[in-house]
Amino acid sequence: MDQPATLVSPASPLEDVRNRIAKAAAIAGREPDQIQLIAVSKTHPAERIAPLIAQGQYVFGENRVQEAQSKWPELIEAHPQVRLHLVGQLQSNKADEAVALFDCIHSLDRLSLLTALGKAMEKAGRQVPCFVQVNIGEEEQKGGCPIAALPELLQQARDADVPVAGLMCVPPAALEPAPYFALLAKLADENGLRQLSMGMSDDFETAVMLGATHVRVGSALFGSRS
Ligand SMILES: *Cc1c(COP(=O)(O)O)cnc(C)c1O
Repeated sequence: MDQPATLVSPASPLEDVRNRIAKAAAIAGREPDQIQLIAVSKTHPAERIAPLIAQGQYVFGENRVQEAQSKWPELIEAHPQVRLHLVGQLQSNKADEAVALFDCIHSLDRLSLLTALGKAMEKAGRQVPCFVQVNIGEEEQKGGCPIAALPELLQQARDADVPVAGLMCVPPAALEPAPYFALLAKLADENGLRQLSMGMSDDFETAVMLGATHVRVGSALFGSRS
């Protein structure tokens, strides 16, 4: 028997992720425009990124300064509305380059980097908002500020005139992420911070329900990384 013709084309990955964010926001009584989708394009070439820009996605994330420098300046020249977020670990000696290229840095996690970023921002005459990355699962091998050291690092950021937008975390792999997202939200609240960068391809809906203002989504948009 003939199948009826499909009248609607399947949603693109971008539409699908946007719809899922909107649904999770609705469940939590939030407006979808309170959540910024950061399309994490690391490892993917400009040819894979351009179609997303054409669909109206303007906020992207990269995790390496060098890789971002090699593919973004041309794309940004063609699409000046693009905003670039650094979501990966940053070495202090790359602070100048990061401040020049990125509009937001999600991996501020220690005093040495804070000092380097403060100097770089002053030199460049450009304030780049930062998220303080918290080692939310207290994992030894993982980047992020220890929970107990957070108030001091936030005070040091105020002293150094480095703007802190909020907190960021990557919960322990293979564990239920919700308690870690809830803990990050509580820490932000206790420290008077509004924004929460949390949630990746596997758990962004949970993060949205628990207050994420920025979700960092890679593979759900671009497919898996080789
Ligand atoms: C790669 C990366 C992401 C995106 O991961 P996906 O699982 O592909 O969505 C988010 N945050 C950070 C810090 C990353 O390094």
